[in-house]
Parts: sequence; structure tokens; C-alpha cells
Amino acid sequence: MDDTLRKRFTEIVGQRYAFHRAEDMAPYTTEMRNRFDGTAAMALRPGSVGEVSAILKLASETGTAIIPQGGNTGLVGAGVPLQGGTGEEVMVSLGRMNKIIEVDTETNTMTVEAGAILENIQNAADKADRFFPLSLGSQGTCQIGGNISANAGGTGVIAYGNTRELVMGLEVVLPDGRVWDGLSKLRKDNTGYDLKNLIIGAEGTLGIVTKAVLKLFPKPAGREVAIAGLGSPEDKLKLLSLAKAKAANGVTAFEFMARVAMEFTTRHTDGAREPLESRPAWYVLLEISSPRSAEDARETMETILTEAFEDGTISDAVIAESGEQQNAFWKLREDMSWAQKPEGASIKHDISVPIREVPKFIKLANAAVERIAPGSRIVNFGHLGDGNLHYNISQPVGWEASDHYALEHAVNEAVYEILGQLGGSISAEHGIGQMKRDKLARLKDPVALDMMRAVKRALDPVNIMNPGKVIEV
Ligand SMILES: Cc1cc2nc3c(=O)[nH]c(=O)nc-3n(C[C@H](O)[C@H](O)[C@H](O)COP(=O)(O)OP(=O)(O)OC[C@H]3O[C@@H](n4cnc5c(N)ncnc54)[C@H](O)[C@@H]3O)c2cc1C
Repeated sequence: MDDTLRKRFTEIVGQRYAFHRAEDMAPYTTEMRNRFDGTAAMALRPGSVGEVSAILKLASETGTAIIPQGGNTGLVGAGVPLQGGTGEEVMVSLGRMNKIIEVDTETNTMTVEAGAILENIQNAADKADRFFPLSLGSQGTCQIGGNISANAGGTGVIAYGNTRELVMGLEVVLPDGRVWDGLSKLRKDNTGYDLKNLIIGAEGTLGIVTKAVLKLFPKPAGREVAIAGLGSPEDKLKLLSLAKAKAANGVTAFEFMARVAMEFTTRHTDGAREPLESRPAWYVLLEISSPRSAEDARETMETILTEAFEDGTISDAVIAESGEQQNAFWKLREDMSWAQKPEGASIKHDISVPIREVPKFIKLANAAVERIAPGSRIVNFGHLGDGNLHYNISQPVGWEASDHYALEHAVNEAVYEILGQLGGSISAEHGIGQMKRDKLARLKDPVALDMMRAVKRALDPVNIMNPGKVIEV
């Protein structure tokens, strides 16, 4: 980037919030898994929608590529520079725009700036005696603008839906610098195309989200957390069906973990303990909430577990006896993402299948992985209630990481072929980014791809917004 252009971008945010030296850029250009190592020309930290607008206007005029960035916890290379790219991209980090603007307990909404950290939003809702249900392992770092742009899922989807279902309105700066004020609190608004839903999940390819109106919910009056042991994937579906029959929307989490996943977490997390003496093949973390009372939640949980035990669906179970123990159970599940790192290279999949196909997927995919990379450790866990599996393949003990990664393509192809047979998706919640862009182009319906390209060209004719991510135009 020439000095004149760098100076013009710098003037918009001020010297203090513009960076271009390699050592200052590293936190913006590197993703946590270190799988992408592209470079960018500079990073900007705007403090207002006016500054974001001025940045995009200048970028459009000069054809400068822009990468919006939130907490940089994404896992598909969407918020970092393109691997093998030009190095001319400008990162726009939203972290300074982090205000919680309003908590409105009458309409049950919260208006926030895009850089607000998810955990701060949850806490602000709690303080107002309300509940914001989006919950991810990265919630202490990720930002709501990133959650919206990735349409993040997490553990509450089974009862409350993805981020898409939790957003009522948006303010977005378009690639040409115009500001769309869509900060609506309307629950009903049938006035043409649903523009908000185009932006949600667009991974920063259509504009920069600067504010959002979020839905709040009543706080549950009671909440119980249990971990149950099961022998097979079929048993997990039986337990899910039973829990839904007894608690309906009160099933606020249904997370599963394979034995090896639990072993990794207990081995690598300080203070983590094996929760069940039987050390079963599969674990389910079940959370039941009640709008009525703590007793109601407890009674429902006990009914579910007793029936499941009596008919042989579960081998054993333990209900958390305190808030502290509930947190400890949740930590076992949440730390699974980090606990894989010390075990070496991991080939990761964030996929979904129709819920009833989960056992078949596991059977077919495990057989394929064993054929291609014998001795691999299959770290399978995820949000069973949504048919969303994190199907991660850790290298066999004693292998070199590079030998394991050499098999990545073959493993991926096998997994995607099985997904195709079962009507699944190659990305359940993490998105496409640069990691799965070519796979999307190959595997998604061609008409859907044409519609996506038409939208992208219409809103971003100069192709400055996160080019090379999600879809090529
Ligand atoms: C430990 C761990 C656990 C995780 N668990 C889950 C999980 O359960 N479910 C899940 O869905 N994901 C999960 N993730 C992935 C990740 O945390 C989510 O995708 C999250 O929503 C990303 O938010 P972020 O602020 O970090 O966004 P970033 O990583 O910074 O960016 C993500 C995408 O959004 C774009 N973007 C960011 N901010 C804006 C903005 N204001 N306007 C326009 N575009 C923007 C970026 O360009 C990029 O395309 C996990 C990650 C980790 C590390």
C-alpha cells in the first residue's frame, strides 16, 4: 500500500488506532489455530459508525479490500487475511465499539454496538433480570458483530435457535460507505426482502455490522444440569426424545461427548475430574430449565433420568448438586475445544446431519477414518439436539503432525461424501471463510450459488468486502 493511501486511512481513525508494523499486526492477522498465515497492509480500530463509513467509502473509491474482525475467535479463516493473498488488505477491528446502548425490559430487547463481547451482553441481560441465550466456548472474547456475521450456534440452539433467531435489527455500513439503519424492535415487519437475514451469516462479505438489537428472554426460574453415561449413539437419540417428551422447550442443552473427548479434557484441564465411575462410551450433558420453579426443573430432570435408567437407555448419571458443580460439568464440555491441542494435529469438521442420521454418520465416518488414518483418535462431541457434530480426528499417538495433515484431504473427502448421502451440511455453525470456500463451490446447489453471487455483486460491486471468503464472484 502506498504511503498516501495509508495516510488517508490513518487520518480517519487517528494515529493511535492505525497499525502497520508487523509486530503490531500479528494479533489481527493470526487465527488461534495458526492454520492461516496471510499478511495485511494495515489494521484500523474505528471508534464510531462515522469512521467505519469513511473507511468503507475510501476503500470503495480505491478498490482496497477490507476484512472486518471481531474477537478473532473464528475457526475457518474468515476474519484473517487470505493465505497466499496480496498482503494489501486492511483489517477493520470493531473492538472499540463495544457499548451496551440500551436494555429495554418492556420490549425485551437490548441494543448494542457490534464490538460488545458476548459475555458482557449475557451479564447485562442478567443484571436486568433477563436472559440472553447465545452461549459459546469463546464467549469471553468473541463479539456480537462476529456472532452475527458467523450466525453462531453454540449450546442454547436447541431451545432458542441460532444467532439469526436472536437478532431483531441491525445497523450496517454498506461497502460504499452508506449506513443502513435497520435497528428495528418490531416482531412483525413484512415490508419486502429480509435484508437483516442477508447480513447475518455473511461473514463480513456484504458490509460491516455496527449495531444490533437483540432479543431477551425471561430468566428460567430453575435449572438443572446432569451428565449421563450411554452405550451407543442410538441411545443418545432415545434419551433426547424422552427429554423432549417430558420437558419440551425446557431442554435447554443436550450436548454429547465421546469417551476419548472426555479423556482429553480430564487430562488437560486443571481440576477436571471424570464425572462417571462407569467410564461409558458416550456422555450426554443434559440441561433442563423451568420457567416455574427450581423444584419443577429438578423433578423433570429426575423423571427423565429415572425412566432412561429403567429402560436401559443410560447406564448411570449424576445431577449437579450446586451451581459450582453445574459450572464444573459445563467446563468439561466447553474445554473440549482447547483440550485437543496438546494431543497434536487434528483434522476438524463442524458438520450437521438430520438428527435421526447421527448414528449412521458416526458408523460410516468412523469406518472411513480408520481405513484412511488407522489408529486416529476420533474426538466426537457437539450439540446433538441440533444434529451438529464436531467430528475431529486427532493424530495417532507417535505420529508426526505433518503425516497426519497429509491425510486431511482424503479424510475430508470421505466425510463429505457421507454427508452428501445423508443430506448433511459441511458447515453447521463455524461458517465457510477461506477454509471451506472451494468445498462450498463444489458441493452447494448451483442455483443457490448463483443467487449468492448475485447478492454479493449487487451489494458489493467493487468486491472490497472480505474478498476470497465464502464465495468467489
Ligand atoms: C473455544 C471456541 C469455542 C467455539 N464454540 C463455538 C460454538 O459453540 N458455536 C459456534 O457457532 N462457534 C463457535 N466458535 C467459533 C467462533 O467463536 C464463533 O464463530 C464466533 O461467532 C466468532 O466471533 P468473533 O467475534 O470472534 O468473530 P471473528 O472471528 O473476528 O470473525 C468471524 C467472521 O465475522 C466477520 N465479522 C466480525 N465482526 C464483524 C462485523 N462487525 N461486521 C461484519 N463482519 C464481521 C469476520 O470478517 C469473519 O468473517 C468457537 C470458537 C472457539 C475458539
